[in-house]
Amino acid sequence: ALEQNQLHFLVIPMAAPGHYIPTIDLAKLLAQHGVRVTMVTTPVNALRFGSILDQEIQSGLPICFLEFPFSYKEFGLPEGCESVDDLPNMEMTRALMQAYSSLQTKVEQYIENLVPRPNCILADTFLLWPGETAKKFKIPRIIFDGMNCFTQMCNHVLHVSKVYESVGESDSESFVLPGLPDCIELKRTQLPFSFDPRLKGISDFNEKLRVSESKAYGVVVNSFEELEQKYVDEYQKVKGDNVWCIGPLSLCHKYESEKFQRGNKSSVGKNDCLKWLDSQENGSVIYACLGSVSRVEPTQLIELALALESSKRPFIWVVRAGHKTENIEKWIEEQEFEKRTKDRALLIHGWAPQLLVLSHPAIGGFLTHCGWNSTLEGVCAGVPMVTWPQFQEQFYNEKLVVQVLRTGVSVGAQKTSAFWLVEDESGELVRSDAFHNAIEMVMEEGKEGEDRRKRAKELRKMANKAIEEGGSSHRNMTRLIEAIKNQERTMKLS
Ligand code: UDP
Repeated sequence: ALEQNQLHFLVIPMAAPGHYIPTIDLAKLLAQHGVRVTMVTTPVNALRFGSILDQEIQSGLPICFLEFPFSYKEFGLPEGCESVDDLPNMEMTRALMQAYSSLQTKVEQYIENLVPRPNCILADTFLLWPGETAKKFKIPRIIFDGMNCFTQMCNHVLHVSKVYESVGESDSESFVLPGLPDCIELKRTQLPFSFDPRLKGISDFNEKLRVSESKAYGVVVNSFEELEQKYVDEYQKVKGDNVWCIGPLSLCHKYESEKFQRGNKSSVGKNDCLKWLDSQENGSVIYACLGSVSRVEPTQLIELALALESSKRPFIWVVRAGHKTENIEKWIEEQEFEKRTKDRALLIHGWAPQLLVLSHPAIGGFLTHCGWNSTLEGVCAGVPMVTWPQFQEQFYNEKLVVQVLRTGVSVGAQKTSAFWLVEDESGELVRSDAFHNAIEMVMEEGKEGEDRRKRAKELRKMANKAIEEGGSSHRNMTRLIEAIKNQERTMKLS
């Protein structure tokens, strides 16, 4: 039953773990602030989302799912695949986006018949149709930006200045992002796909996103002000006041229990993982995980594996299922890599319980692909990072970690792995030496390493403070809810 005056948000996530995981956390946070949440999704994803939320739903938070199926056949998708990480290539990812667009009519029918109408549509920044729906029903739309203000500003100044156009395509020339603090330098080869002239389809889509974004009522950002204050200020100069940093969202989980499952299947149970971590010395373990969708070539993964081995330190290596898994698993088996390293290594095939791993005191360094969720989870865990960006805004995140926050060391990747989009592109090979050196720098006991660890721990404290009552993120959440309430009042009066 709908409580009188209780706000009702329609939340529409995108179907990729890096997007829906924080969106669900956001839904939970809204519900904890007294908002009723209806999440729009598909049946298979509803099951996945349910297991992320299970305990919360049971404990009575006002969250429900609105499930709409689409036809796999119509969109040429494999049976049961409703999330990007289930799919083998970009073409199918596009098909999935289309399948998701087919939800629009159904959602609009639902709103049509709903009295009172939802007070707000909160949709992933990558979805265009919720903009049209919101406009049709005159409902304020907030976009959830799975990134951070630093990324927004990098994209903004690149877009406005077009500075990259005067720079060659080779990976030897770099340029400074004009007008931003910290003198951020990048190479053309490190920019997101939308700046690549060969990928016109992507830049056109991006342009549509920009227009759609500019029409939204506001933006929710999974970050906290103290982490990137200068960039939050800059972003608010561009966007106005309706930018709400409400993160880190992952901190809404006190722990990652056995039942709670954020992702896909794993070869190692959480208890076994914990037992292994418990047996390691504090701050000694390197945790290497490259997110949920990155498609790293087996030859490249071998370089990483060899560096982890040669570090002579304990490590956890997550071997993601999906992209050419057979090849890398075959190498692991043929080389008896697991046997060779079994005294000090834990290989997780499939999906790692990342929050649980990162928050364990045994972890001393996080080798990450710099996806924003992982990066922020690393910040929350207070661990220094070895940064190995793959594509999209991950190169920005690397700059934020290495140069602005100074809690990370880069492996020195120069180039986006374009083969994610352009299959025949030969990617850059980062050699095992480069991984080895970066790992050593992060783990070393000298002053530099110590300072880095100290800064990382300070950030962890700041992150936890931000979400407490009275903290910046907590205040921003209240501010957001008030803004929607006011909007409602204004609309009633007009
Ligand atoms: N994740 C996880 N276990 C894995 C791989 C990923 O828990 O084995 C989670 C990770 O904690 C993060 C999300 O999946 O919350 C990945 O998002 P991110 O933005 O880091 O990268 P993406 O997968 O979008 O590239």
